[in-house]
Amino acid sequence: MTLRDRRDIRIAVIGGGVGAVSLLDSLLETFADARQHQRRELSIYEPDPSRLAHGLAFAPDLDSAIVNLPNQRMTIRDRDCTHFLRWLNTRPEHSPGAGGDSPATSFATRQVFGSYLDEQFDRCLKSAADQGWQVRIHHETVLSVSDGADGGYVLHTSESAREHTHAVLAIGPGSPADPFDLVDAPGFLESPYPLKTVLPQVDPKDHVVILGTGLTAIDVALGLLYLGHQGPLTMTSRHGILPQISSGIALYEMQYLTAPRIREYARGSKGLYLADLWNLFKGELTAAGFDADAELSWLLPESSPMDHLRHQLRNPDANPVRSLFQNVPNELKEVIRSLLVPQEQEKIRTDYRTHLKSLQCPMPSTTARTLLSAMESGQLSIVPGVTGVRLEGSRFHVTAQTEVPPGDTVIDATKTSPAESKGAPGKLMSALTRDGYASWDYYGGLRVSRRTNQLHDPTGPGTAAGRTRGLYAMGELTSGSIYYASSLPAVNEGADIVAAAIALDQEFTSWS
Ligand SMILES: Cc1cc2nc3c(=O)[nH]c(=O)nc-3n(C[C@H](O)[C@H](O)[C@H](O)COP(=O)(O)OP(=O)(O)OC[C@H]3O[C@@H](n4cnc5c(N)ncnc54)[C@H](O)[C@@H]3O)c2cc1C
Repeated sequence: MTLRDRRDIRIAVIGGGVGAVSLLDSLLETFADARQHQRRELSIYEPDPSRLAHGLAFAPDLDSAIVNLPNQRMTIRDRDCTHFLRWLNTRPEHSPGAGGDSPATSFATRQVFGSYLDEQFDRCLKSAADQGWQVRIHHETVLSVSDGADGGYVLHTSESAREHTHAVLAIGPGSPADPFDLVDAPGFLESPYPLKTVLPQVDPKDHVVILGTGLTAIDVALGLLYLGHQGPLTMTSRHGILPQISSGIALYEMQYLTAPRIREYARGSKGLYLADLWNLFKGELTAAGFDADAELSWLLPESSPMDHLRHQLRNPDANPVRSLFQNVPNELKEVIRSLLVPQEQEKIRTDYRTHLKSLQCPMPSTTARTLLSAMESGQLSIVPGVTGVRLEGSRFHVTAQTEVPPGDTVIDATKTSPAESKGAPGKLMSALTRDGYASWDYYGGLRVSRRTNQLHDPTGPGTAAGRTRGLYAMGELTSGSIYYASSLPAVNEGADIVAAAIALDQEFTSWS
């Protein structure tokens, strides 16, 4: 009799961060009424006890580190947006933060959100016990996976090998990229986290060069300003693009950016081109009553980050480009990606990914105001076109589009794609690729089924259940074709998909 035949269910979650909490919550709801399993086991593998439940993102840290979505959208439940807000409203000891005109529209500190996650994790553990699940937490790194004797998977760590019926990869985003190979240079800080430990190491008068202009780079700039830094700050990246400011998302009835229209363009030109998409987007903006050229001009390379911040702060409720972009469903993004001709796919990967991320991964307006005032005072500069940073003597020389004075400290705020991760996630990803469980899409994401988040079987769509049946991924690992999958809404959606897929797989097994 096999593991599956016995109707045992032994789920392993690889990674015990935020995604694991969301997945536990979804699994408990999905399996609440399913009593047929004789043995229910949930194993969570998380090597770093200090990351359990809140991950790195929501660990105790400086109060300058705030969530990037308003409280009313921060939640572990895709189906319940205001779950965190309701929790917050019953916890007067936690401040709802600033930036909005009510707790719902404000932005709490990330450590407050971390307290919520810790509490949700404890609640899930208790509910799991009530539902008859045996929960085990292993503070071990999963190094590789192999086929189990009973149709499941064996997870190998340096200490053990345990068999499970299902395994879910929830190992988070990539790792610090160190694009200029500065790891051994004195004055180079390879990761800014935890901010409260790393940033006080910086001399307050130093010229600090921050590699990156995304949310991590902003965390660094805000953290240093919060600690009273007096020296100049330079944020530098290839494109110099800041995240857009968080705004309400208006709903549009899409008339131009639709699958039939896109297919029609692709048929006519034997493949889809970015210029076609640009025109469709323009048509959509015009149809919605906006000056399309003016709105899209902010995305052009010559646009000034400072002016763009001012523009967005002056028009807090109207960001039609972001709204429209958020209206494009994931399935349509996949259609677009599959129809783009190869050279255009390459442009997305190398040139436009940052633009897409800046739309998908916004910053709160309070953050934007702090950045703008540091820019207006001359303390903070955003420099695009960085191609090199090297140590000469005791100072760092930056080669970029404009001249940058030598830096005293360099802080890496860049990240690899999940495919190129280093450390624990990297070792596991290499082993999965080597052993034929994982394959990667063109954009650096793990190939998964969008319907179930099950890993694609790299040996091809087999006739049988396939080599990867019961092996799932969620979070940034699945980002490839949709470009960014690490934000909470995407993580929560992944958790629901995986929980439903496991339930379906189990049901199928029970009857087969
Ligand atoms: C500093 C920071 C701030 C952020 N702020 C926000 C925000 O405000 N709003 C938002 O929506 N998103 C934010 N994010 C995005 C954030 O990554 C996600 O919201 C969330 O943390 C993703 O959850 P996850 O489970 O995928 O990854 P994580 O929470 O990072 O958890 C992954 C876990 O996997 C473990 N792991 C890795 N490899 C292995 C292995 N081989 N074996 C076992 N375990 C392993 C790691 O130790 C880690 O604890 C932020 C991210 C960062 C880094």
